[in-house]
Amino acid sequence: MTNGTGMSDACLDEQVATWGMMLATLPIPAALVSPDGRVVDRNRWVDIGVGDCLIQMDASPHPGFAFGSDGASRWRVRPVDDDSRVWLATADRADDGAHLIDRFFFSGESLFVVYDQAGLVAQSNAAWEDLLGYGHDEVFGLDSWTLLPPDDLETRSRVEAELRKRGRSEPRFRMRTKDGSYKLIKWALYYDTELGRCFGVGRDVTEEEQLANELQRMAYTDDLTGLPNRTKFLERLEAVLETSATPAVLFCDLDNFKVVNDSLGHNAGDLLLRGIADRLAPHADASDSLFARLGGDEFVGLLEQGTWPRAISAAEEILDLLREPFLIKGQPIYATASIGITVADARTVRSAEALLGEADTAAYEAKGLGRDRYKAFDDALREQVDRRFNVEAGLRRALEDHRFEVDYQPIVALPGAGVVGMEALVRWRNESNDLVLPGRFIDVAEAAGLMPAIGRQVMTQAFSVAAELAQGGRSIAISVNASAAELSTGAEYVKQVLDTAADTDLDPTQILVEITESAIVGVEATLPTLHALRSQGVRIGLDDFGTGFSSLSHLRSLPIDVVKVDQSFVADLAHDHVTRAVTSSLLNLCHALDLDVVLEGVETTDDAAAVEQMGGRLAQGYLYHRPMSALNLCRLVGRQDRIAPLSLRPSRELEQTKTHP
Ligand code: C2E
Ligand code: MG
Ligand code: MG
Repeated sequence: MTNGTGMSDACLDEQVATWGMMLATLPIPAALVSPDGRVVDRNRWVDIGVGDCLIQMDASPHPGFAFGSDGASRWRVRPVDDDSRVWLATADRADDGAHLIDRFFFSGESLFVVYDQAGLVAQSNAAWEDLLGYGHDEVFGLDSWTLLPPDDLETRSRVEAELRKRGRSEPRFRMRTKDGSYKLIKWALYYDTELGRCFGVGRDVTEEEQLANELQRMAYTDDLTGLPNRTKFLERLEAVLETSATPAVLFCDLDNFKVVNDSLGHNAGDLLLRGIADRLAPHADASDSLFARLGGDEFVGLLEQGTWPRAISAAEEILDLLREPFLIKGQPIYATASIGITVADARTVRSAEALLGEADTAAYEAKGLGRDRYKAFDDALREQVDRRFNVEAGLRRALEDHRFEVDYQPIVALPGAGVVGMEALVRWRNESNDLVLPGRFIDVAEAAGLMPAIGRQVMTQAFSVAAELAQGGRSIAISVNASAAELSTGAEYVKQVLDTAADTDLDPTQILVEITESAIVGVEATLPTLHALRSQGVRIGLDDFGTGFSSLSHLRSLPIDVVKVDQSFVADLAHDHVTRAVTSSLLNLCHALDLDVVLEGVETTDDAAAVEQMGGRLAQGYLYHRPMSALNLCRLVGRQDRIAPLSLRPSRELEQTKTHP
């Protein structure tokens, strides 16, 4: 007997036998059909008798693939043998079964295994056999659980339990290949309770996992030093905080790292950081401790089970590890660190960021105490942090309610002390109606990023007062202090100054922006800001000159018009001849460079005499006037017969632009 294709029944039976078992395990309606659509075998989901010719196969534009229908449902039909003598028809239902068959069984890459009732391999596709390196005969009858790693004791019981319970399981496990290596396979396993059989489609995810591991490693590692990074540190700390443990955090800030960078170059700085990391590496990622680089010259340690004695001895150990010099480019470099320690106890806010903040605060304190030491985050520091927190909250409310007031301190010309300028000094009217001086809140405002907003409120008030005086015929210079944060906004700050001047009708040549060296040195981006201001006639004053790392070369290199000599110089003038000599030379140098000099903090007549004697022409201090309200200032200036001739001169950059447009 022949069938519709002219193929012998025996041959067809052979094909059907090969595919029969697989057919039975398919979780969707599936049938084997001959090319004329006659059903030669079917699984239990198909409702028609074998031999019925129910599937009408359409002509397919794709060779080897067709659609069919039996009037009720559509079928997807594919040949299962090379000669297209037997076709597998799967009902094209919108469930994932049909999709699975298409995607996994026929695609060469997917792994396919059918297990018999004893759980042994009854059928598998070439992809699975090739991946494991076994021949078809070798895997037939194999108990594939024996291919799992010997230490994987739980996968089998978990998967079997899931299959029993839900009829499916999606595990990932490793299987040993013939050459002894392992492949990680992601499986979708199905168990047909009626047939007592299981089949699985799988995908080799070994490389995927390696890539994911590599990405994970990169995401958690500091590029420069190879130590764990901030993300890893915070995640680990957060995980520890979810337990009842009392972790200790050690924040290590290198001392004077900037000096190494500046004097020996960034490359040497990098080498030093790597050298330090090498010494810390043995502690980097241990079972109950972690040492990470946060960034820059900041490292951080975590002891999962921290106690104060343990944390302190760890800090001492770190300080000891750094004692030996580092050999960088043949030169011995000594590195020390300031370490802040905190231990999360019952009173602590149990958040990783908060703990890190506490340790950071303590490290900052250690630095202030003289470096190369550790400091514990104690009650006094906790109070300090609370204070800062309250101040910050108060400042935010004050910004909203416009509770920043401005006092004005006159700048006078010598001799005669006629008012030629005024410095706007911010005050915070707090909720208890006290006037708080900047020394009590500026650092908090800076750290909280509030200075630009505060600066805007100050500038508007100050420029209005100056404009009002100018309109009354009393044109005097108005100084505003610019914080590093304001300057760093660049063009935005320039626009703010010019817009406020325009809004208040103030001539920009009356404005002096006071900056400190620390706010601009090393911050290249601020130079264009200063040039842009000067090109519009705004003058730049270098405030508090002589404090910190003041450099005479800045007087020549920075685009400035005025130097304000810090009050600490003036305080010593009358009784210290060295200070007198230094200040006098500074004055001469500035005058030679055509810079105006204001001597700040003149408190006594002796100070004033010393200033005048050495040729000081501009001064500011309690002796002449204390900072005062706008009203008092207007009265004071109003009483002045005329504005002293030695007013601050216009910016040289403006003069240059005027001469050479
Ligand atoms: P500064 O810019 O050097 O301002 C001069 C400070 O010295 C003022 O303190 C002033 O009251 C004080 N002073 C003036 N003459 C004397 C004197 O004869 N003896 C003594 N002992 N002190 C004198 P104040 O108002 O407390 O301001 C402190 C600092 O706060 C300012 O120093 C400035 O750096 C900053 N600051 C003030 N207002 C602002 C502002 O609006 N923005 C920014 N960014 N900083 C501001
Ligand atoms: Mg100032
Ligand atoms: Mg000053």
